[in-house]
Amino acid sequence: MKPAAKHHWAILTDVTKCIGCESCVEGCRGANHTGRDQPWTWQNGVRDLSASRWTTIDRLPGNHYVRRQCRHCVSPACASACPVGALKKTPEGPVVYDASICMGCRYCMMACPFQIPRYSWDSAIPAVRKCVLCHDRIESGEAREPACTSACPVDATIFGTREELLKVAKQRIAANPNVYRSHIWGEHEAGGTGILTISDVDIPLPNTVPTDPLPERTWAALRTVPFVFLGVGAGMVGLRWLLGRRDQLRLAEEKARAAEASAEKSEE
Ligand code: SF4
Ligand code: SF4
Ligand code: SF4
Repeated sequence: MKPAAKHHWAILTDVTKCIGCESCVEGCRGANHTGRDQPWTWQNGVRDLSASRWTTIDRLPGNHYVRRQCRHCVSPACASACPVGALKKTPEGPVVYDASICMGCRYCMMACPFQIPRYSWDSAIPAVRKCVLCHDRIESGEAREPACTSACPVDATIFGTREELLKVAKQRIAANPNVYRSHIWGEHEAGGTGILTISDVDIPLPNTVPTDPLPERTWAALRTVPFVFLGVGAGMVGLRWLLGRRDQLRLAEEKARAAEASAEKSEE
């Protein structure tokens, strides 16, 4: 059920329950019409996150499966780094994206300590792509929970508020201290995240992930960006550019939907 707005939406994934079936990946792909992956050479294999794969399963030795997606940081560095506010933290917790005002600088991709956002290079109108915690679908009442959590056949990944899922995580660890690592990934990393994970093995994180919030550091770094560059960026967000971008996006989306519909028809 959709949590009250004053609570931070969250997902808890339990590595001990995950069977690596990727129903979550396919659930996300279908609900968000992300299309199919392109085999880009710089990707870390076809299972890496991509513009059309907003969540994935990392396969650790010994058949341990770890979900990866945007962490919906409590203090998101990506949103802080975006000069035009195309990425923003909603009051409900998800970090969402507005392609119509994005100017393509990709500061967000450089700022994210978890190395999550991807760019749709193969699209006619490239845009930043990442998990948005199904914010629009849940807010509009179209869905009661994210497509990935509802698709999981073994409840390895569940939706709720950050408070209640932290409680569940602590209870599971306390009930089985010999099974679980005594750590909740996402409780403190980067100042805390909306995606929480418990596990019976250590989960490697990029060494760019600190335990304190990041935006302050991001702004400190951005202050060193030459003023002239930011000036060019500000010029790009003029009204004409924005309207053009919106039209281009609308046409590109219509084309993508038409291609998806015709592919589905030919599969029938
Ligand atoms: S994980 Fe990265 S992209 Fe997601 S909210 Fe945090 S900083 Fe932003
Ligand atoms: S929360 Fe929604 S957008 Fe994010 S991975 Fe799950 S299904 Fe995809
Ligand atoms: S659907 Fe559930 S069990 Fe399957 S890979 Fe995703 S989290 Fe793991």
